[in-house]
Amino acid sequence: MTLPPPHPMRSASPDEHRRRGRDGGRVLVLNASYEPVNVCTVRRAVVLLLKAKAEVVENATWELRSERATMSRPVVIRLVTYVVVPRDTHRRKITRRAVFARDNWTCQYCGSRSNLTVDHVIPRSKGGSSTWDNIVASCAPCNRRKADHLPDKAGMHPRRTPTMPQPHVFIHVATPTIPAAWRHWLPADAEAAA
Ligand SMILES: [Zn+2]
Repeated sequence: MTLPPPHPMRSASPDEHRRRGRDGGRVLVLNASYEPVNVCTVRRAVVLLLKAKAEVVENATWELRSERATMSRPVVIRLVTYVVVPRDTHRRKITRRAVFARDNWTCQYCGSRSNLTVDHVIPRSKGGSSTWDNIVASCAPCNRRKADHLPDKAGMHPRRTPTMPQPHVFIHVATPTIPAAWRHWLPADAEAAA
């Protein structure tokens, strides 16, 4: 994914302004490449900004005040130096919510968006592991139909080959209500999944 850097600074909308109490004081962190990496606290973001390790991409229209200084509340920041996203993403805990978010809240066998469960593509009884590349979202009827069969035997294969999720999936999982000012920076399909 490549996002063109449209403006060095954008200010949050009044809607975002009102929402400030509901986003849990979180700041979206972009890589130097403008790809979302994770979320952090406002305090952490301020430290990164003061150390010049990050720059502001979007500010809220209100300010943070301390005894010594006043600064606009950061909403989205960008790391000055590109960081390689840790390869251990796949070791992040596999939760139903993360699997559903990765799979766009869609059954990977029939496309249904209701009654979702998680399915082991290769059943555990046949040696399938509980890893990102073997677990998909499946509606309950498909899960029952596939039962304990291998994909070929059941004639049921996931629409998308499951892989470890991109970082933005965990951003959605960690932040159920995505602030409006973040949406520009997150992939559109994940937004629909939130
Ligand atoms: Zn289904």
